Amino acid sequence: MSWFPDNPIMQPLLTLLHQREGSLTRELLQQPAGFGLGQLPQSQLPDATTDMVCGFCSTGCGLKVHLKEGEAIGLSPTTSYPVNLGMACPKGWEALRVLDAPDRATTPLYRADKNGRLEPVDWDAALRLFTGRFRQIQEKHGPHSVAFISTGQMPTEEMALLGAVAKFGMGLRHGDGNTRQCMATAVVAYKEAFGFDAPPYTYADFEESDAMVFVGSNPCIAHPIMWERVMRNRRSPEIIVVDPRGNETTMYATQHLAIQPKTDQTLFYGVARLLIEQGRIDEKFVARSTTGFEEFARFVNDYSLARTASETGLEPNQIERFACTIHEKERVSFWWTMGVNQSHQGVRTAQSIINLALMTGNIGKPGTGANSITGQCNAMGSRLFSNTTNLLGGHDFKNADHRAKIAGILGMDESVIPTENSWSYHEIMEGILKEKIKGLWIICTNTAHSWINQNLAREMLSRLDFLVVQDMYHNTETAQMADLVLPAAGWGEKEGTFINSERRIGRIKKVRRAPGKALADFHIFQLVAEYWGCGEQFRRWSSPEAVFEVLKECSRGMPCDFTGVQNYRWIEEQGGVQWPCPEGMTAPVQERRLFEDGCFYHADGRAKFLFEASRPLTELPNEAYPFILLTGRGSASQWHTQTRTAKSPVLRKLYPEQPFIEINPADARALKIAHNAWVTVESRRGRMRAMALVTPAVRQGQVFIAMHYEETNQLTDAVFDPYSKQPSYKACAVNVKGGAE
Ligand code: SF4
Repeated sequence: MSWFPDNPIMQPLLTLLHQREGSLTRELLQQPAGFGLGQLPQSQLPDATTDMVCGFCSTGCGLKVHLKEGEAIGLSPTTSYPVNLGMACPKGWEALRVLDAPDRATTPLYRADKNGRLEPVDWDAALRLFTGRFRQIQEKHGPHSVAFISTGQMPTEEMALLGAVAKFGMGLRHGDGNTRQCMATAVVAYKEAFGFDAPPYTYADFEESDAMVFVGSNPCIAHPIMWERVMRNRRSPEIIVVDPRGNETTMYATQHLAIQPKTDQTLFYGVARLLIEQGRIDEKFVARSTTGFEEFARFVNDYSLARTASETGLEPNQIERFACTIHEKERVSFWWTMGVNQSHQGVRTAQSIINLALMTGNIGKPGTGANSITGQCNAMGSRLFSNTTNLLGGHDFKNADHRAKIAGILGMDESVIPTENSWSYHEIMEGILKEKIKGLWIICTNTAHSWINQNLAREMLSRLDFLVVQDMYHNTETAQMADLVLPAAGWGEKEGTFINSERRIGRIKKVRRAPGKALADFHIFQLVAEYWGCGEQFRRWSSPEAVFEVLKECSRGMPCDFTGVQNYRWIEEQGGVQWPCPEGMTAPVQERRLFEDGCFYHADGRAKFLFEASRPLTELPNEAYPFILLTGRGSASQWHTQTRTAKSPVLRKLYPEQPFIEINPADARALKIAHNAWVTVESRRGRMRAMALVTPAVRQGQVFIAMHYEETNQLTDAVFDPYSKQPSYKACAVNVKGGAE
């Protein structure tokens, strides 16, 4: 599958399609032979271009934006950018289109009466209402009774300003990001194992592996350009996919290990035992660079081949072949995404993958690594610089030295820095039920759609005294519940940087004017600070690039040190810059991986083996709810809650409009459900309608629904990993009924 690499006619075609709003297929068929850039009318030709990175996923593709009189009129993938090498997926091609949607938020909106309508107000009134109501709540219920929920979709500079204004200026203690929903597990797994949240790889590793193990990961559609890098691998790699369900990626797999849901941790412990029994360990690396191996070896002794086969549902010879491949291939890389992270035992599962990489020495070398692929375009920025779970720059709120360092850099009194960690997203939501949280500021995320156990989530939001939603669109499910809506600019309408999955800092730019009175989030945060009365604290934070300089200082001496990055222009000249890039590193190599010297970030320089007994699913199927519901990405053209991607007529043609449920033919037969028939899917928490897609891709007793549809989270169960507090979206019990409602 190829996503239009180096195709010079794709953008003009898409532009024409947008203008005519016609059928994609019909329009393509009607183009005269030789249609190309040269034949576009002069009025549609750009007079300049500029480069920036895409604002959807964490791949961080470079896009060349075509400008006419300073405004973006089109785009194409940047051929020289080291990430995507001239490729882009449909979302990237359509990135500008979604800015033109008619439901963009163009003015602040206020709901004076809880049962009334949202009505336009001016910015002055909106900011007075916002700060006035939040102050009232704090006076009545205490300073920590208002909180914020941030995002992995904003530039790093905006996240940092938000986190700093909220915590150091407004005195909030609780603020988390929607990255809790996707990356918290990887963060904790890396911190505990390596001593810092440090994904070790670089994208070149996709092309340099002899075996790639994808766990709970469907990169073919979830990270299509990373998948293109896999397809460019000339070493004939084994592609091993560990996933209960057949999907686009398993179609390319040399080994598909279709395990029972959430038994991946058991599988990896079983494989570890086999490798240890057979002496297939990199003893030198284990002795020099790790701690805890002997305890780990004793622990996995309980995971015999027979037990592992029985619990995972695999044949013993499949497990043996998998272990053998890991041993025989010179360069093995392990890649995981949400199938691991969104689990009741996500952290230990991620660490069971890390353990395999450590014990076989598959880390710090080309084509290797225990590699978490990030989700959102700036999840990595959020993890390190949003001032939510970490103090700016990967520091620790609880560490007095860290607080003193950051206070010194910011020129602020140390007393403004909280000495405790924030509540996590779900603790903030539960805080509403417990009447501890009364005011909530939600920025650039759609809680009422995406949060687990949606009916309960909406009930929680409805109990708030004051809900502020800051978003590009006024009609998201969450904005519709708000007391106050603040209209925000989107990607392409503001400046800043993102950090992608391989730790590469890339630029985004203002190439469009935000509609109406919408403002860049950066400016909204500045205004909130002024109206709150703490603007003076943030005078130095005068522009995104000024904040970038502040964050450079915050990163100094940390593993993510980027003090060597000269300025925004330099980032562009380098083709993005991976951290670390400390001062003195004047010409960083384009592709760099961590741990090449076998040294990790713990005080002793060693990585840790971490492990824990596997636990069963929290909600097992029974007679009333006989199926396990799996959820995941539906297509390469959909992004999360579809707040943006549903705005593109082109993208909408590339995925099913109606929710669908994949069901095994034997189950469909037993329930008398025909292909394309409507069915009702019900869990203990809610129900939804979906069209049946009868397919052997899912096993008997399992069904799959894409995560993007509003209804999907009516079914999911609010279960969380105990260490990362990440929601377990991937498995709960449901029933399926055919026939009319
Ligand atoms: Fe954008 Fe991700 Fe698609 Fe690249 S793969 S174009 S970063 S959405």
